[in-house]
Amino acid sequence: MTTPQPGKLVVVSGPSGVGKSTVVAKVLKRFGGRLRLSISATTRLPRPGEQDGVDYHFLEMAEFQRRRAAGEFLECIEVFGQGHWYGTLWSEVGPSLEAGKWVLLEIDVAGAKEVLARVSEAVTIFIQPDSLEELERRLRSRGTEQEVAIQRRLDVARRELALADQYQHRVVNDTVAEAVDEICQILQDRGLLND
Ligand code: 5GP
Repeated sequence: MTTPQPGKLVVVSGPSGVGKSTVVAKVLKRFGGRLRLSISATTRLPRPGEQDGVDYHFLEMAEFQRRRAAGEFLECIEVFGQGHWYGTLWSEVGPSLEAGKWVLLEIDVAGAKEVLARVSEAVTIFIQPDSLEELERRLRSRGTEQEVAIQRRLDVARRELALADQYQHRVVNDTVAEAVDEICQILQDRGLLND
């Protein structure tokens, strides 16, 4: 028997509103069981419809900080300066990588930097909008956010876009289908096989 080749980490970032989750869901489907999504932990409250253990591991602040102190996170970060913490637990990635699976992390730019510092062979992909105007249009069309929240997300997006060139690959999400094809091609070129 041969031991499976260890899997790789795939880090995907991009401004909120760029359509990351839609693209990521389709990429995961394309690769079946070979690529799995890491479920992040967060201290923010669940939004309507979000389920614990499915969308996020929703943790109380004390529990999050206890795990952080115990070294259970591959990376963790306070996002948006609102006091909400987000992080990737080693338990979400370690066992899958050892079993030869690839694991996709959908995390922010600061988290991505932390991952690369620890796992230099990670594949990093930045999904970007056509333009900031297009991103603003998408954020408004979701209709879920107040003006202040939209402005805050646009500020974060401006800062994130400025860091896009730190990623190995940049993909423009003008159509979902093209962005999905492009990401699948990148992953295949980096050694991930189709089912
Ligand atoms: P939301 O609260 O809208 O689900 O996510 C807000 C932001 O947190 C997004 O930019 C998302 O990429 C980022 N995020 C989600 N999970 C993690 C994580 O585990 N680590 C880091 N660093 N960022 C995360």
